[in-house]
Amino acid sequence: GVLQRQVKSLLELDFEVASDYVLNAEMATLVANEVAPRVEIVAPNVTAEDDIMPRRLPLAPEEYAKLPLRAPVVTIMGHVDHGKTTLLDTLRKSAVAASEAGGITQHIGAFEVALPGGKITFLDTPGHAAFENMRARGANVTDIVVLVVAADDGVMPQTREAIKHAHAADVPIIVAINKCDKPGIDKERIKNQLLEHDVQIEELGGDTMAVEISALKGTGLDDLEESILTLAEIQELRADPTGPVEGMTLESQVKKGRGSTATVLVKEGTLRIGDILVAGTSWCRVKSMATDAGVQLQEAPPATPVEVLGWRELPAAGERVVQVDSEDAAKKAIAARERRMARAKAVSAIDEINAARIKAAAAAAELAKVKRKNRAAALRAQGTDRGDGPAVTPVAVIVKGDVSGSVEAVVDALAKIDHPELNVTVSASGVGAITESDVERTYAATTAIVGAGAEGRAASGMASAGLVVGFNVKPDKKAAALAKRHKVTVVSSNVIYKLMDNVKEHLATLLAPET
Ligand code: GDP
Repeated sequence: GVLQRQVKSLLELDFEVASDYVLNAEMATLVANEVAPRVEIVAPNVTAEDDIMPRRLPLAPEEYAKLPLRAPVVTIMGHVDHGKTTLLDTLRKSAVAASEAGGITQHIGAFEVALPGGKITFLDTPGHAAFENMRARGANVTDIVVLVVAADDGVMPQTREAIKHAHAADVPIIVAINKCDKPGIDKERIKNQLLEHDVQIEELGGDTMAVEISALKGTGLDDLEESILTLAEIQELRADPTGPVEGMTLESQVKKGRGSTATVLVKEGTLRIGDILVAGTSWCRVKSMATDAGVQLQEAPPATPVEVLGWRELPAAGERVVQVDSEDAAKKAIAARERRMARAKAVSAIDEINAARIKAAAAAAELAKVKRKNRAAALRAQGTDRGDGPAVTPVAVIVKGDVSGSVEAVVDALAKIDHPELNVTVSASGVGAITESDVERTYAATTAIVGAGAEGRAASGMASAGLVVGFNVKPDKKAAALAKRHKVTVVSSNVIYKLMDNVKEHLATLLAPET
């Protein structure tokens, strides 16, 4: 019964169904919406990320240990005005000065610093929002957080927030005590403040490195970079430079004369000119790659951030990048993603409709209440009120359904109707079509409840003397005729929420004055 209906609903909703089909979240929602008044998605929604695109499996430790080391990816965080931007600028300038590039840099979202001891990749969008956005998408690329704390200001709200984010993401911190060029500062105070916030500096017996710097003057930056490389060594960050490329878009933008560009941080594999990438619902045949210093690259190994040209459409930032074999494979993957997204949209549209429906029902009940009050006031004004306040209108209901499960569901739903001026009573229920005897029983039950008042109710303009509710069953001709004679209302539907809507509509007419 129920399963058959589900499958029927599935077919009506245009899904291909096999007998052993497992419903995924969106299908289940669509079906459930057909049979239930309200649906909540308990399991997380399907997103474009979670799909058919290949993903490298985690390696066994001994396999991982064979991979070459890669550069650490560093994010700079800290309180506003503590010197994050200045630090990034100084680091970048020293990097450009060290390379042969002419010194003209452009912001692409990340840059690399090459040192004798190794390379470091800095993400250059300081701020916690970017870090959290990435993390929320399960796209954490940061290996190390450099926490900038101005020596003359100490631990401030955003410092604490940064600590919280780093801890939540399980990313180790290196503290950069900045503005140490300023006179009369107390570094010990800051170290103790940090201790209070769960950041234990090495000197105080903890395992967090702290470096004293001046981002403005450029002092202590060697120390900072060395500390980063030391920590990276401990972390043993490795990546596979072979195999299909996987990465992340850090930024994207349409640039004059260059079209859609996106900075890709390569995580696995080596990106080369001509490779085909998919990010979200856009794809690209890599036309060219450049660093922030404008150096054109033919190859980008793991942990390299490069501005990639050749995107058909602008991909979003924070999108997973995956290499595919052909343009055809790229287009297919995108089409599949678009279908998934359309379905996810349909699911959220249904949620909205559900919410609107509940709101409308509440509004209708409110309106009915107001009408009822007005009517009572009018009656009082005419002197016909007996002075015992608004009466509770009894409503006798008989429920019929095709299977016992659905009958129970309808009875339950009716029991939940709680209205100060209505007393809905299910006087009988059962499986089968709606018959003359059901109508008769409803009429009798109504008369029994209302007693001698039954005629009075009819006289005072009540539209109906009882209600028969049918789930997936209808009255036969004789029953329908009798119902009309007795003023018994029959509502039926094979969708519970529609049925309940009809019931509520009927109940509203009992409250509203006849016109
Ligand atoms: P952000 O908001 O964290 O990015 O901070 P900024 O980098 O914009 O720096 C805020 C202010 O502090 C600016 O006026 C900088 O010139 C100044 N500043 C940054 N680093 C230092 C430093 O090491 N020493 C001194 N004296 N001032 C600094």
